[in-house]
Amino acid sequence: MTAAEAQQDLLLVFDETVTRADVDGWLRHLSFAGAPTRVYRLGAGHVLPVSGVDSAELLAAAHHLPAPTRQVVRGGAAWLGGRPLRPAGTRVRIGPATIGDGSVAVIAGPCAVETPEQMTATAELVAEHGAVALRGGVFKPRTSPHSFQGLGFGGLDLLVEARRRTGLPFVTEVVDPEHVKRLAEVVDGFQIGARNMQNFALLSAVGQTGLPVLLKRGFGCTVEETLAAGEYLLLEGNDQVVLCERGIRTFEPSARFTLDLTAVAQWKQHTHLPVIVDPSHSSGRPELVEPLSLAAVAAGADALLIDVHVQPEQALCDANQALRPEQFAGLMTRLAGAVAGLGRSLQER
Ligand code: PEP
Ligand code: MN
Repeated sequence: MTAAEAQQDLLLVFDETVTRADVDGWLRHLSFAGAPTRVYRLGAGHVLPVSGVDSAELLAAAHHLPAPTRQVVRGGAAWLGGRPLRPAGTRVRIGPATIGDGSVAVIAGPCAVETPEQMTATAELVAEHGAVALRGGVFKPRTSPHSFQGLGFGGLDLLVEARRRTGLPFVTEVVDPEHVKRLAEVVDGFQIGARNMQNFALLSAVGQTGLPVLLKRGFGCTVEETLAAGEYLLLEGNDQVVLCERGIRTFEPSARFTLDLTAVAQWKQHTHLPVIVDPSHSSGRPELVEPLSLAAVAAGADALLIDVHVQPEQALCDANQALRPEQFAGLMTRLAGAVAGLGRSLQER
């Protein structure tokens, strides 16, 4: 580290081998050194930000304390999410599924939970073809208040039943901080939708549950703003965060949104959080889901979030973007071949 870097804003990172008592010792040490700070949790480890101190001097004077596992120069919006804090990356566990272990995980299901028949048939279909988790919204944040808003808490039972039948965990969207506790009792993971990416009260409430979260990028938000939103979850001590690219609004009207794979490649480089891509909401067109899925995996995505419906023409939400059963089956077959070519494999249950 150069002299200039030694004065820069730093993050002292302590892995799980350093006890909380020793981390508290560091807090006192920094306070005496005129650089009071606070402690953040990162998984089973801790992070202390420090500013305006010479780190070499600081470390030399702290010989009675275990050295930080690593020191990271802070940069950009990703403080706790920055790749240098965890160079090997974070693994997010959604029930028995893992996102970020190098394999490609597919989460699939209907946009909205509608009926017992629809949810059961779709869940069994995606399980049969290799999905490792289910998706399905019971709270739907629709652009128009006149559109189907979801079944609400009543729809949760259908997700629970689909999980029981297939053994697959499920994620579902949460739109209201008041709903978080009740949902946390049954869900395997939360989804925070594009329209709520900067609902900071919601982010904090979900972060406090410690449950996994798919954080969808707002369609008018930048790569950096998405990282900053992720920090609200991480700040609560929840490192089970997956960033989701789901398309942004551009001047291009030929698809519903424009899938930004540059974001995927950048997040993979700049953060330790895994990345999921939603080719369904980004394109809004079933025939684009497969090429975008393949491109997403090539860009480094850890997982895909795919809308599937047994009868798309009858779907109450996003009817014209869900894959039909045979389209999903075909996608999974060709995806397996494509990921093998990338030296990866599809995650198995
Ligand atoms: C969804 O995944 O059901 C959804 C509403 O997506 P988004 O928040 O990305 O629009
Ligand atoms: Mn949808």
